[in-house]
This record gives sequence, C-alpha cells and structure tokens, in this order.
Amino acid sequence: MLRNAITVLPYRYMEKLENQFYAMLLNHSSDECLLWPYSTNKWGYGKLMINRKIISTHRLALAHSLGRPIADGLIAMHSCDVRHCFNPRHLSEGTYSQNMRACISRGRRPNCQGERSKRNKLTEAQVHEIKRRALCGEAQAALAREFAINQSIVSRIKSGERWGHIRVACHANT
Ligand SMILES: [Zn+2]
Repeated sequence: MLRNAITVLPYRYMEKLENQFYAMLLNHSSDECLLWPYSTNKWGYGKLMINRKIISTHRLALAHSLGRPIADGLIAMHSCDVRHCFNPRHLSEGTYSQNMRACISRGRRPNCQGERSKRNKLTEAQVHEIKRRALCGEAQAALAREFAINQSIVSRIKSGERWGHIRVACHANT
C-alpha cells in the first residue's frame, strides 16, 4: 500500500502536510471514509506535524469539527473502525471505556484493545496456551522466556487483565 511505502518521511516534509490536511478535510463532504494517504503512527492512525509536535489526524479533524480541543482525558472514537480515516462524521469524543464498548458491540472484540493492540504480537492461540499453562501452575518466568514477552504480560494474561475475552481453565485437553 502506498500509505505504508511512505510512512517514514522527513520532519520538514511532515510540517508541510498541515495544508494538505485542511485541503482534504474541507473538500470532503461525503459520508465515505476520508483516508490519510501519508504517514501513520505505529498504531495505524494518520499523523502529521504542526509546530514540531506530532498530531493524529483523527484527533485534529474532530477538534476542528467541534471547534475546540478534545477534552482532557477523552479520545476521538471512530464509528468506522478505520484508523487512518479522518472524516469528522465518523468521529466522536468519548471515554476509553465507551470506545471499548462501542467496538465490542460492533463485533470486533479481538481488535478492541485500542492503541495497545498493535504492540501486542501474540496470537490468540498463543495467549490461549499461555493462559492455560499459567493456570496449570507453570512458572510465569519460563513462559515469558518461551514466548519472548515480559513476565508482567504473562501475569496479566493469567489474571484476565489482558486478553480477558480468552477463557480457558486448566484442563489437559483445552
Ligand atoms: Zn471513516
């Protein structure tokens, strides 16, 4: 995809994207997704640079349509689930937990971890195995080594704090 091919841009170039951003935003009047064709951050959200600060395109678009900054502690939620979309009609202000609930109700549960999901390299099958073995008493440090993850992740998987939708118990055949 073109978007990925040009993800790494010199900062000087990124500063110039502000005009491009507003041109695209103001010329887009349809309900279709408005896709950012330039850099994205590691979570897949469009980004640009204004006054040497990196800003997400969806947050900037929402603030523009609200006519004020996004309130402290709130996030810009996508109704379309397309992270590099910045169509303000697809964006609303909400809390992290509202976003999780909305995402789950749209049936995208495994992808509802928000900005944390892309950093998580484990597959569901691996998490299933880690959780089962941890619940069966296997040492967390050994599991962490085997799956090349931090021991605190093993602990959170075991407790259900992370990947809580994966339900498993300690049975020989699960
Ligand atoms: Zn969209």
